[in-house]
Amino acid sequence: MIAQHTPGPWGVRPGHGCYDINAGLIYVAETIGGMSGNYGSEEANACLIAAAPDLLAALEMTDLGLHNADERGPCLCSQCAFRQAARAAIVKAKGGA
Ligand SMILES: [Zn+2]
Repeated sequence: MIAQHTPGPWGVRPGHGCYDINAGLIYVAETIGGMSGNYGSEEANACLIAAAPDLLAALEMTDLGLHNADERGPCLCSQCAFRQAARAAIVKAKGGA
């Protein structure tokens, strides 16, 4: 079992050739571009990472309101397809496969 993530909200601040992701005074991560061959994407990557707690919370809330066909077998409706994708993303975000 992995530990819980740092509670949000997370923000982005420009650093020295990088972008820092912070939760208030807590340093969460840093994105770099030039040295990794990913130059130009570091700000967008930082924004995506900083949105992670909000995205996870939104997916968890959305999941509750969708059609739940688990007890009745497979369903091909768009809500069930989204629910399946949302659940996979939630598992990945929490350290699952
Ligand atoms: Zn369905």
